[in-house]
Amino acid sequence: MAVPLRQSARIGWYLFSNKVRRVQKFPLIVELEPLFACNLKCQGCGKIQQPHDLLRQRMPVERAVNAVLESGAPMVSIAGGEPLMHPQVDVIVGELVKRKKYVYLCTNAELVRKRWDKFNFKPSAYFSFAIHIDGLRERHDESVDKEGVFDEAVAAIKFLKEKGFRVTTNSTFFNTDTPQTVIDVLNFLNDEVEVDQMMISPAYAYEKAPDQDHFLGVTETRELFRKAFADGNRKRWRLNHSPLFLDFLEGKVDFECTAWGIPSYSLLGWQRPCYLMADGYTKTYKELIATTEWEKYGRGKDPRCNNCMAHCGYEPTAVLATMGSLKEGLRAMREQG
Ligand code: SF4
Ligand code: SF4
Repeated sequence: MAVPLRQSARIGWYLFSNKVRRVQKFPLIVELEPLFACNLKCQGCGKIQQPHDLLRQRMPVERAVNAVLESGAPMVSIAGGEPLMHPQVDVIVGELVKRKKYVYLCTNAELVRKRWDKFNFKPSAYFSFAIHIDGLRERHDESVDKEGVFDEAVAAIKFLKEKGFRVTTNSTFFNTDTPQTVIDVLNFLNDEVEVDQMMISPAYAYEKAPDQDHFLGVTETRELFRKAFADGNRKRWRLNHSPLFLDFLEGKVDFECTAWGIPSYSLLGWQRPCYLMADGYTKTYKELIATTEWEKYGRGKDPRCNNCMAHCGYEPTAVLATMGSLKEGLRAMREQG
């Protein structure tokens, strides 16, 4: 089963209740960044190039929880930086789970086993680890610029599964990937490591990323995923995406960006317009929605969006399109349920 039934039903109800109340803009997932510091320096990362005093800061638990509650989102993805460098990230997770939010903790896994005893994480249907793995050993270690990270991530996945946690993965692909490298890593995660679910994304060309040469264009992205998804792979893999988003990745449909669906909250506030671009910040989600010119963003509207096919902009569009069509709704239930 791809998405646990209870989670699908809860999200379906959330979408339906916003529809009947005619709420125009509402969040599906909050991307919560309670710190910017990281223990790795990946070449494609645009998150860690921050001033030193900001890298030292950690978001207080109450502030993190209140931001999510104010937005009303049913799901939260905690990233950074590396969230396991936040000494109270387990408390943030616990408080959100207590409020029945579905929480994904995105980590490069280097600190899972090293710092395990400092934390008090508890398995829950509301909580999943999301381990960052971009490829098999050589590719992943090259992507994160450090040897041994792949082996530690795989060991951490086994460690967490043995402790009864739900474990998902998050893989970002670059133009150095081929359909075969995508197939290799997803087969490994799906069939050998047997993670619960996998998320995939073409890398976004962050302006601040040190390596600007390896980001995928839209045509390359579509070709990469079309070939990787062939021969029944897409159907067999436990991908944590809506069928329409996967259609979008392989170029079967095209969508407009819905950046307000997956907003980002960090030490700097609510980031305009999305997790990937920073055109200013607001104190509240309400203010973010009211004061952002959403129609200015997306491919063909802002040059910085032109190569973007990221989950944070286009998965909400796919989910809303699924909700708006009985045929697509039934297909999503069949393929994800
Ligand atoms: S991509 Fe993730 S793991 Fe890599 S440097 Fe950035 S925040 Fe750290
Ligand atoms: S297309 Fe949407 S998600 Fe992508 S960078 Fe632009 S605003 Fe952000």
